[in-house]
Amino acid sequence: MDFSLSVDEQEFTESFRTFCKKEIHPFAEEADKTKELPRSHYLKLGEAGYLGLLHEEEFGGQGAGVFLSTLAMEIISESCGSTFFSAGASAGLFGLPIKHFGTPEQKKKYLPDIISGKTIGSLGVTEPDGGSDVSGLSSLAKKSGKDRYLLSGQKTFITNAPNANYCLVLARTLDETGKEKGLTHFIVDLNSKGVSRSAAMDKMGLKASPTGALFFEDVEVPEENILGKLGKGFRQTMQTFNAERLSLAAYSLGVMKACLDESKSFSASRKSFGKSIYQHQGVAFMLAEIYSKYEAAKWLTYNTAWEMEKIESEGKPSMSLSGKCAACKLFATTAAREVTNLAVQIHGGAGYMDEYKVSRLYRDTRLGEIGGGTSEIQKLIISGSIMKNS
Ligand SMILES: Cc1cc2nc3c(=O)[nH]c(=O)nc-3n(C[C@H](O)[C@H](O)[C@H](O)COP(=O)(O)OP(=O)(O)OC[C@H]3O[C@@H](n4cnc5c(N)ncnc54)[C@H](O)[C@@H]3O)c2cc1C
Repeated sequence: MDFSLSVDEQEFTESFRTFCKKEIHPFAEEADKTKELPRSHYLKLGEAGYLGLLHEEEFGGQGAGVFLSTLAMEIISESCGSTFFSAGASAGLFGLPIKHFGTPEQKKKYLPDIISGKTIGSLGVTEPDGGSDVSGLSSLAKKSGKDRYLLSGQKTFITNAPNANYCLVLARTLDETGKEKGLTHFIVDLNSKGVSRSAAMDKMGLKASPTGALFFEDVEVPEENILGKLGKGFRQTMQTFNAERLSLAAYSLGVMKACLDESKSFSASRKSFGKSIYQHQGVAFMLAEIYSKYEAAKWLTYNTAWEMEKIESEGKPSMSLSGKCAACKLFATTAAREVTNLAVQIHGGAGYMDEYKVSRLYRDTRLGEIGGGTSEIQKLIISGSIMKNS
């Protein structure tokens, strides 16, 4: 394993860290209150090269590897979880399946504006009746006429739904005779007739990243908007989820690093019983736990990113890494929840106040154990993969 970076990659991470400190971090506290992620924010992320990291240069991307992109996701998550999630839903959950399964025409049509931040994408899998059981979803796309489908159904808890231009919708597909053809991905323009959406939902954390429902009523979708192969949407989704799970581990690292920094400086300046609180063994032990959990999650995440980059550079699908991506997500998101809890504890009453960053980190990070497949679903994937390979 080699985690070393080239000079260009080092330069990128340093300048991206500076960009995040200057442009993302000051905005994060305010956005948590205003609950808004302005479109100009996406343009800045596009200009900084973040949205295009994993995308091909011919569409405006950076052509970077999975490892560098994992580092960048960790860096941005130290500053603002809402930015990480909304940018990830657009360039990652919507953009990466187009990169992997799209036709040249689809890539040319959608990717340049997603990468520059001019348009916003989303991924619609979860439905009101359930998100864990992807194969049981009920949105329907029925072939109607020679080259179009009519889409009906509802998606919920969709990141960016309130303001996205597009959604990559996973739907059960029927041919002209009503025969079932499996799950298929459709690229849906959210300004199409028959599409409506909810307002942004009020939620526990990640308040600036809008989450909402999408409603489809006989929406005409041209056949050319099918992404990848008809009936192969389940497998395509699982491959997309591998990358999402790794990215949620990277997000958790950023959260833990921020908790470590905040807790170190608070425990050095805060005094009780005549000394800095870190000099009390109870607080010192909490700092030690935060550091150890962060380091353990970091090396598992970097190792998984390195393996995924290797597999992709060999042109192999990342499906063989499903168990490892699930383990990485399970471990890192659990550790991040425990670490934010410790960081709030170290801050005492201040940790409960919105004014302190650890309060936001604590609320935001809870999604890590739910989105992209719950921890229970990760355990099913991990155990399945262990037994398959035994
Ligand atoms: C802020 C936010 C943003 C989101 N963004 C998106 C998005 O962009 N796109 C999208 O498609 N979805 C999105 N989601 C949805 C998310 O992926 C789902 O909430 C998640 O997959 C769980 O589905 P569910 O909520 O329907 O829970 P359910 O599937 O109803 O599960 C409820 C509980 O039962 C457990 N459970 C279910 N089945 C099993 C089983 N077989 N064994 C053991 N336990 C089980 C679960 O682990 C959970 O604890 C988002 C959710 C949130 C909160």
